[in-house]
Amino acid sequence: CGIVGFIGKKEAAPLLVEGLKRLEYRGYDSAGIATLPDGKIERRRAEGKIINLENTLNERPTAGTIGIGHTRWATHGIPNETNAHPHATERVAVVHNGIIENFQELRAELVEKGFTPHSETDSEVVPLLITSYLNEGVSPIEAVKTTLKRLDGAFALGIIFAGEDDLLIGARRGSPLAVGFGEGEMYLGSDAMALAPLTKKIAYLDEGDWVVLKRDQVTFYNEDDQEVSREIRETAMSG
Ligand code: GLU
Repeated sequence: CGIVGFIGKKEAAPLLVEGLKRLEYRGYDSAGIATLPDGKIERRRAEGKIINLENTLNERPTAGTIGIGHTRWATHGIPNETNAHPHATERVAVVHNGIIENFQELRAELVEKGFTPHSETDSEVVPLLITSYLNEGVSPIEAVKTTLKRLDGAFALGIIFAGEDDLLIGARRGSPLAVGFGEGEMYLGSDAMALAPLTKKIAYLDEGDWVVLKRDQVTFYNEDDQEVSREIRETAMSG
């Protein structure tokens, strides 16, 4: 339902939770975040209101200056902690809005390869598929590129990788996604509301686009994987 992402110098978790709160108005049944303390993927997820996620984070904080967050509106799999996003392997964590229409075929293929899905969601095939390509030895960017070509349906994605502290990838197909530009920090949001308090400089992904965020650089690609430029607008929206 709602996606936020952050890469910068500040602690990611509080900023992600703040962003998720600004997406609450869209409705949701669970929420979660993933960050990269010491380069390892750490997740915190909770069913119900964001206050439940905050309580979980108070008990078990997670450090790191890069991360992704999600509010879920379940389409496949009941609302519970296991089905809450981010979905992850040891190598990659993913938040997903929308529906992966061909998830059953992909899941069967991944199970055949030895992967074990932990959730009932359509979304979990995305981190599993990316991991299957990473395991073949390709780079994170190549793994995402290949994965995007395998997915049918409507989606927006936010993706981070273990051991990659300066890499956040977003992708858009049929579900909106925007990049926010800061000073030495960058943001991802499924809607400008989430980004409003952080920056007024926003660029929307076009249909089929994917984007690579680093602390000091944002690179957009179109659906044919060609580097493209996207207009940065100054929003009037205020935090
Ligand atoms: N289809 C996914 C799920 O059920 C994502 C739903 C959403 O957009 O929140 O987990």
